[in-house]
Amino acid sequence: MNDTTTCPYCGVGCGVKAQVQDQSIIAVSGDREHPANAGRLCVKGSALHETTSASNRLLSPRVAGVEVSWDTALDNVAERLQAIIDRDGPGAVAMYLSGQLLTEDYYVANKLMKGFIGSSHVDTNSRLCMSSTVAGYKRAFGGDLMPCSYDDIDHAELMILVGSNAAWNHPILYQRMVAAKRANPALRVVVLDPRRTATSDLADLQLSLKPGSDAQIFNLLLVELARRGQLNEAYISAHTEGFEAALSAAQESAPDIASVALDCDVSEQDLSSLVDWFCNTEKTLTFFSQGINQSSSGTDKVNAIINCHLATGRLGKPGMGPFSLTGQPNAMGGREVGGLANQLAAHMDFSSAASIERVERFWQAPNMARAEGYKAVDLFDAIERGEIKAVWIMATNPVVSLPDANRVRKALERCELVIVSECMSRTDTLDLAHIALPATTWGEKNGTVTNSERRISRQRGLISAPGEARHDWWAICEVAKRLGYTQAFDYRAPVEIFREHAALSGFENAGSRGFDISAMSTIGAQEYDHLKPIQWPITADAPQGTERLFSDGRFFTPSQRARFLTITPRQPAQQTDADYPLRLNTGRIRDQWHTMTRTGRAARLLQHRPEPFIEIHPQDAERFQLKDGALAELFNDLGHYRAPVVITTHQRPGELFIPMHWSRQFSGDAISGSLIASETDPVSGQPESKQGRAGLRAV
Ligand code: SF4
Repeated sequence: MNDTTTCPYCGVGCGVKAQVQDQSIIAVSGDREHPANAGRLCVKGSALHETTSASNRLLSPRVAGVEVSWDTALDNVAERLQAIIDRDGPGAVAMYLSGQLLTEDYYVANKLMKGFIGSSHVDTNSRLCMSSTVAGYKRAFGGDLMPCSYDDIDHAELMILVGSNAAWNHPILYQRMVAAKRANPALRVVVLDPRRTATSDLADLQLSLKPGSDAQIFNLLLVELARRGQLNEAYISAHTEGFEAALSAAQESAPDIASVALDCDVSEQDLSSLVDWFCNTEKTLTFFSQGINQSSSGTDKVNAIINCHLATGRLGKPGMGPFSLTGQPNAMGGREVGGLANQLAAHMDFSSAASIERVERFWQAPNMARAEGYKAVDLFDAIERGEIKAVWIMATNPVVSLPDANRVRKALERCELVIVSECMSRTDTLDLAHIALPATTWGEKNGTVTNSERRISRQRGLISAPGEARHDWWAICEVAKRLGYTQAFDYRAPVEIFREHAALSGFENAGSRGFDISAMSTIGAQEYDHLKPIQWPITADAPQGTERLFSDGRFFTPSQRARFLTITPRQPAQQTDADYPLRLNTGRIRDQWHTMTRTGRAARLLQHRPEPFIEIHPQDAERFQLKDGALAELFNDLGHYRAPVVITTHQRPGELFIPMHWSRQFSGDAISGSLIASETDPVSGQPESKQGRAGLRAV
């Protein structure tokens, strides 16, 4: 048996070798042959086999809390969905998916909703994670196209990490950065983050900038590149458009080092060092993650970063480029098949009538959706209004993870039909399900995922599912058949779905969108089973995949030139005031994943940080008369959050940090989403989870 698979947690996408005994995975180790991790695993990855057991799994379908057969549950799903569609139209039903799903699950969910039911209200928790990057790449490159490779770390001479605590959130990639610095002590590392984090240990320079002020720093870099004659004029002229307008906008907001240092609350000397290093180092990688994305101006921040790389021609070559670190194992795979409400499939979207018709022809879709649907926050608002009457939630826990979590809970409580596909027996969202469908999980699921460097890897089914748990793609197809779409959903195995997905990527306009895996459209079952990790595009010209994009300076805009964007930095949407005087930041901790539904079950993963907490600066502790370890309450107009205080100089004065993981299930009263407003980026729809505000009091 092939015992290699892929870790289901972060976007690094590490290869895993599993030891199977008596239908259980009893041990895991890193896959030495996987390019993402070369045999290493982080703490979360090495505890994979400890997180699930039959005792904590959802083992049978339930309707109204009563165990039923799969046939009964599926009949119920199909009949009730059809009744709502007949009564209120297809726009009354929605799906909310997850970067935990495999590409094959995502593909059939998207196909059923957008092509056959005719509703584009399909969104995913990836909206909360990297949708600003998607929008930024599309604006600049003409497609959702991440240019770099992990190998670039070994070639870089300057690495900038902005809004990324990679040491905790992408640990194996961070270890590669550490190794690169050890091998080349001249390699410089700069961390831009309001907090000092574990990642700061690697930094030659840390800029603890004012929250939300990142775009101004990158605008300054653009201005200083021009002022110091360090632009790559030949590249700008041959391969880009919009440079003059972008530079002019940057000059307005970031005229000089002194004013930007003042605005961003960093020292002039530190900012000068960053400017010097950036201007003089060709091989520069800029890594960015949720600190950039989770902002009401996240897309602009992404483009401010990309502008600097375009102005220097620093992309498409070893050791350089704007590098998005995706949060989830399959955030990118979901994007490939159109998992976001504004996408179709194969990197096509609703902005083009030709694309809509192309997908309609390919699917032979009877009820093709023709306009984009609601993005995550809007989708749950529509549920609250009663406009969306039915939602099918898969592999995610939105009543904990979405902003304004209390409102999301109320919206689901009053929703006519809530279907939840879930592998665990207990989650906050599963508690609200009218129909619960037991899903397979890691070690049982079988399909593909795509990591942060565009590398498609196999997750393999190594053991049988317990009880009545079934694959998500199967459940979706069974519902589709009951809705009358038998032929279009008559897949017998994930490989058949993968072949169709690959064929669609090359249908009629192969290569024109950058995403193309059409060379895999005839892959055999055995070849699929033994598929080695491979980076897309995968075409007849590049059958072994593609390490870097844009090496030829050709982009996927109509003019084939990359676009500079004019960036006018904006403050966070919510400002602190007398009632809520503290700036609130949320984020992840090293050993937990999302809302802890799996990692919260492994005793050794709880040891690192066993309970929720509130990190505050000593000045604030004194101001609010709090001792280290004292129980305190954060509050604002949306909700409250109770946890012990951790006093640390790693926080800036006036700012707080709380972890995003805890839920009712694990803590009762420390749900970070209950304090976060539904402020979103106007381009991407991504919520501003990094920029809340709160008051604080002792309990
Ligand atoms: Fe899994 Fe990410 Fe850790 Fe790799 S770095 S083992 S993908 S959690």
